[in-house]
Amino acid sequence: MPLHLTDYYSEEEWQLFKTEAARHETPFLLVNLDIVRRKYQELKKFFPFAQIYYAVKANPAPEVISLLRDLGSSFDIASRYELDRVLSLGVPPERLSYGNTIKKPADIRYFYEKGVRLFATDSEHDLRNIAKEAPGAKVFCRILSEGGETADWPLSRKFGCHPDMAIDLIMLAKTLNLEPYGISFHVGSQQREIGAWDSAIAKVRYIYDYLEEENIHLKMINMGGGFPANYISKTNEMEVYAEEITRYLKEDFGEDLPTIILEPGRSMVGECGIIVSEVVLISKKSATGIDRWLYTDVGRFNGLVETLDESIKYPIYSEARGEECTDFIIAGPTCDSQDVMYEYFRNPLPAYIKPGDRLYWLTCGAYTSSYASVEFNGFPPLATYIIGGKKK
Ligand SMILES: *Cc1c(COP(=O)(O)O)cnc(C)c1O
Repeated sequence: MPLHLTDYYSEEEWQLFKTEAARHETPFLLVNLDIVRRKYQELKKFFPFAQIYYAVKANPAPEVISLLRDLGSSFDIASRYELDRVLSLGVPPERLSYGNTIKKPADIRYFYEKGVRLFATDSEHDLRNIAKEAPGAKVFCRILSEGGETADWPLSRKFGCHPDMAIDLIMLAKTLNLEPYGISFHVGSQQREIGAWDSAIAKVRYIYDYLEEENIHLKMINMGGGFPANYISKTNEMEVYAEEITRYLKEDFGEDLPTIILEPGRSMVGECGIIVSEVVLISKKSATGIDRWLYTDVGRFNGLVETLDESIKYPIYSEARGEECTDFIIAGPTCDSQDVMYEYFRNPLPAYIKPGDRLYWLTCGAYTSSYASVEFNGFPPLATYIIGGKKK
């Protein structure tokens, strides 16, 4: 069955994408800022009590950051390079959080000197570094969370610590004259199982209770990202996520919630962008071969890294004529055998698609342009073009 564009974009949004796409040579990412604005406003509406810290790594385009700055967003920062960019765009340091638990003492010092006072941690060594390089700062401890099997791009085991260790770290933070502020978790990116937030919130409740007895009163829960974007594999609507997660929070923390932070990346910018590529070649490996290979000018090394293990299944649209669909193995343009996006998962494409035709990769605004290699095989990084964003 061919893909239905209307499952992804309104007629108006699609026309805007198409008109702009016609002006550029492939491959490129095209970002519509009006969709980012809508996503931000929806999230505010669904979680009226939460503070939003956009995870800059998902799409660090200056236009995206500036738009979110004007909408009042705060930002989750992963490195001093992201910090420099966000500060240069006029975001005040009070609106920033250093969310990466893996950092050098010099990085911590750099953030501190620039005015950042909110730091994530998940290990004793890092915590002691923070105490030394960022004296008196607010810290939150990241805990391990489950849900790796139901997230399309799991993060969990690399980050976070056991809740009991989080308790020890928070108590240590106090003796190191830091301000114990809260607990964070990330249930895995593109998390399709809403219950993953339930078990994580229950762990936070346990930590809060334990620390109350020690006379430490935490004030914040950082629920990370993990909210969905619209790919091939269906998820619940954001509204359902919000209703359920709000219910979990209120069950465990009552009506008078602590400060709640959300760090959306994928759900904020995924749907705002499409990648436009061109079919370079279509071939078979033998005269009687069944599989048809389709090579296109975007691949795993210039934007589509998240097709690793075929994890993220992007919807692909083609305007080639004919109702009849067939499937292809879809591969990128470089001389690297890893540059195959989909071999087992088969996107249905028009049977009569031919070299020179364009492919539209939908829901590509997150983790594409920032993930592209610098010049593998000499190909330049993925170009980004921006549309929309005029004040409304
Ligand atoms: C990557 C990241 C996010 C964003 O996650 P999404 O699943 O893209 O929303 C949020 N918080 C932290 C700490 C991250 O590392």
